[in-house]
Parts: sequence; C-alpha cells; structure tokens
Amino acid sequence: MHTCRHCGNGVENRFRYCPWCALPQRRKLVEFFAPHPAVGGDQAKALRVSRYFGDEETVPQVRFSIWNVDSADAAVSLTEEEAARLAGFLAPPRRPFLEQLRATLRG
Ligand SMILES: [Zn+2]
Repeated sequence: MHTCRHCGNGVENRFRYCPWCALPQRRKLVEFFAPHPAVGGDQAKALRVSRYFGDEETVPQVRFSIWNVDSADAAVSLTEEEAARLAGFLAPPRRPFLEQLRATLRG
C-alpha cells in the first residue's frame, strides 16, 4: 500500500492506476519486443517501447528505441495521439457489425 501522489488516497501496490482519481501510479512502463526470427541480421536487436505518463520533468510520450545488443541505435518519441493512431494501424481489422451479428446468429 502506498499513497497516490495526486489525490493522497491509499493505493494497493499491485494497481497501475489510482482507483480514486485514475492517475497512473507508475511514471513509465517499458516493454521489449523480439525481432522476427526469420529476418536475418536482426537477431541481436529488440524494440523497446517506453510509455511515459508525464510528470514535472517529462511530457507524456511513447518512446520507441531500437536496441542492438546493449545500446540504442535509434529512438523516436510519439505523442499519445500518434501512439493511439499506431495502435489502430496495428490492430487486426474488425469485421463489419452486421457480418459479426450474422456469424453469431449462425453459430
Ligand atoms: Zn489518486
């Protein structure tokens, strides 16, 4: 249990967001993505995506960096709006609603 830095209420440590005011409890989340195994030359690389929620020092952003062994070759930060656009670009195409409904009724 710790105290939310925004609203001061108690928050269980396992929560990523404050249940009272919704403030992210971590300032940054980091995830690594592995290279495609069938693409030669990329095996020592990884994509690191760092999501900064923003605080007094850092504006909210999603930073992508390409790591090669133990150093970053390149990096770029996107705004949250551009990152959301990227998420939409990567999301699997959605079937039209009527088609989904027909499939459900048939199933
Ligand atoms: Zn809070």
